[in-house]
Amino acid sequence: MNIADSERLESALQGVGYAPAESAADADFIVLNSCSVRASAEERIIGKITDIQRIKQDRPDTKIVLWGCMVGPNNQSIFKAKLPMVDHFVSPSAVDEVVALAPNPVYQLEEPALPVADWTHPPVNVFVPINYGCNMACAYCVIPLRRGKERSRPLDEIGDEVRRIVARGAKEITLLGQIVDSYGHDLPGRPDLADLLKHVHDTPGLVRLRFLTSHPAFMSDKLIETIAQLPRCMPDINLPVQAGDDRMLKLMKRGYTVAKYTRLIERIREVIPHVSLTTDIIVGHPGETREMFDNTVAMLEALRFDKVHIAAYSSRPGTKAAAMEDDPALAVEYGEKQYRRIQLEQVQERIATERNATFLGRTVDVLVDEYTKGKWRGRDPNNKLVFFEHPEDWIGRVAQVKITETRPWWLGGDVVGEAQAAS
Ligand code: SF4
Repeated sequence: MNIADSERLESALQGVGYAPAESAADADFIVLNSCSVRASAEERIIGKITDIQRIKQDRPDTKIVLWGCMVGPNNQSIFKAKLPMVDHFVSPSAVDEVVALAPNPVYQLEEPALPVADWTHPPVNVFVPINYGCNMACAYCVIPLRRGKERSRPLDEIGDEVRRIVARGAKEITLLGQIVDSYGHDLPGRPDLADLLKHVHDTPGLVRLRFLTSHPAFMSDKLIETIAQLPRCMPDINLPVQAGDDRMLKLMKRGYTVAKYTRLIERIREVIPHVSLTTDIIVGHPGETREMFDNTVAMLEALRFDKVHIAAYSSRPGTKAAAMEDDPALAVEYGEKQYRRIQLEQVQERIATERNATFLGRTVDVLVDEYTKGKWRGRDPNNKLVFFEHPEDWIGRVAQVKITETRPWWLGGDVVGEAQAAS
């Protein structure tokens, strides 16, 4: 979401006459787009602001804006006192508010900025936010406090934006939301994500369509069936589970059980053959016993995801989980959290190795987005990273690659042809 916001801001600032500076020291206007999902992300931003303070001492006219998830509706006064060198604080995703603060704009923005600034090299993949905020209240999560209640963008507005982006060369669109599958419940007529996927699917020039991130409570049969029916909608779903123990899920306030989640995974695999499923897990959440953690390990072994984002719990002030840490019986020690994270990573590395090994000898369609260290890099429909060497320029094209090498996090192979249009 932050990448999407930053791309949109970059484009909007270019629209009013700004250009990227060589370095922060040369800039008239510095915007820091912040993340607050973990304490370490906030600490990095504070470190950066401290560095930038020196620039402001040399060039006092430089304007500094702190933007993004660190800036919630209720904490601006705390930051104003703590960070006097920052001129303005702006809530996440409010691109227009940041642009309005830019000193001496050359032009006025005539239409909403597209999230891509440099059209001489249009990016292959573009993120398009479709809803902002979150109405859930997971115990560990600070996002609803910072990004506010859910707001969906109108279906036609998203459709128009996708058309404009694809007309300018993008091949793959990823629709983004904090809970992307709850899209539309606040709009007139209550369109849902399945309706939106159908609405944008036939955009001329669009090769691939993805969406991120889903919540198990909103993953409907209609959505699953729609993904299966739409050829450009890729068989790739991120469905965060967070834990594999019912008592832990209840403490986290996730609103489902392991059995319910498992049935959902089975249903998805039944309806969408060759789907790739990824998930997110937090270990060491307050109240997580070793037995609960062992149940999470057992769930990973049973469900065999393609990829798992594993995080050790990070305390976020203001959340229900942070309050639970005051009880020493519930807090999990740092060393134990790290032990659980590493153990889970090892289990998942073995599973990913085994799953990817089944790709050996298969030919996959790879939409190429980068040339790096002498190799073309792209992704297959399952969103797996694939590398290959070839003398032609493959950026934005779909290579048919026969897989000759498999690793837990990527695949490698040789080009055997080129796929046309939808892959
Ligand atoms: S669903 Fe839960 S984890 Fe996701 S953004 Fe909302 S509160 Fe946070």
